[in-house]
Amino acid sequence: MSAPIWQVLIGQEEVVTKLERAVRDAELMTRGESGPAMTHAWLFTGPPGSGRSNAATSFAAALVCSEAGCGECQACRNAPTGGHPDVDIVRPQGLSYGVDEARDLIKQAAMSPTMSQWHVVVVEDADRLTDQAVNVLLKAIEEPPPHTVWILCAPSAEDVLPTILSRTRHVVLRTPPTKVVMEALINRYGVDAAVASFAARASQGHIGRARALATDEHARLRRHEVLRIPMQLHDLPACFTHAAKLLEAANLDAKSITDPLDELEQTQLRKAFGADSDMRLKGQLKRSLDSSVKQLDAQQKRRRTRTIRDQVDRALVDLLGLYRDVLLIQTGADIALINEEMRPGLSQLAAQGTQQDTGRRLLAVNYTRKQIDANVTPLIALEALMVELKDPWLRVAS
Ligand SMILES: [Zn+2]
Repeated sequence: MSAPIWQVLIGQEEVVTKLERAVRDAELMTRGESGPAMTHAWLFTGPPGSGRSNAATSFAAALVCSEAGCGECQACRNAPTGGHPDVDIVRPQGLSYGVDEARDLIKQAAMSPTMSQWHVVVVEDADRLTDQAVNVLLKAIEEPPPHTVWILCAPSAEDVLPTILSRTRHVVLRTPPTKVVMEALINRYGVDAAVASFAARASQGHIGRARALATDEHARLRRHEVLRIPMQLHDLPACFTHAAKLLEAANLDAKSITDPLDELEQTQLRKAFGADSDMRLKGQLKRSLDSSVKQLDAQQKRRRTRTIRDQVDRALVDLLGLYRDVLLIQTGADIALINEEMRPGLSQLAAQGTQQDTGRRLLAVNYTRKQIDANVTPLIALEALMVELKDPWLRVAS
């Protein structure tokens, strides 16, 4: 039976076993013994939704918890959200992470832990580090102070420079099978079997998405609306309307993710300053709280922007699933549809075009995902996409 902190991970037994050994050996190392399963630099990879970030932050929590991840103490509760003084969670913002930021991070990482035996630095989206930033970090990663642990996260090993790969221990998370996601929804979240089956299938192995679809009726409705878009692109005005609608749905999905996090962090910050709602701070303490609040606001705003982009991407993955289904119907393949409940509408779409049309639409959706990842304004990218979904041969002329 694994420690409670690992319960957030679904279908990742191998990873949990490996990390539990590391936590155990980390404890040995602090007593001067040898602990081969523990090391100072880790690379966690896994597709979005596989739990890559949860694995990294749970590992960080287990290292700073005095009971190897009890799941209940202050350390276990605060570390995963970055609210523990010995755990830094860094999310490179925007498109990349530069040299100056990397240098600051190294200084911070070298500081001795204050409440536990380790100072853990989790770098999410390490694939966004610039080559120069990586070069600055490499030496720190190679020869860290004895109490420092680096955990870098990226979608896949190909996304990071080989120099990082060769200096870190690699932990690979996989997309969990539909059946495992379904069982987790039923057993852990008390979701009804029919809804769990739908949500597991529709999420295509993305745990957070599966949970949102299983427990939030509005999220289900918004997904349904997005999937009806291809049936409604009758003319150009419709293309523009639906681009705006898709973005609006992504905004709402993002809000339901970031609002609770924002609130939690604001409460944590005020608590850290000892400022309860009925207590007034004065002088230097107040100024320093105000400046921290400002900093937090800016971070939260950046996270909101990124979450919206992530949710647009989720909607586009849903559209890819839909066109995959259409293609399966067109080719007469006997393979289960992702959107089985929409079969009549999908059959109609399949009958209205050729396999080549569908192929071009799939390419168009993928192209849009890349554009949005490269920071193109979402609305503009989506408008272009809608026009192309309506007439998939438009790009030929250009
Ligand atoms: Zn604990």
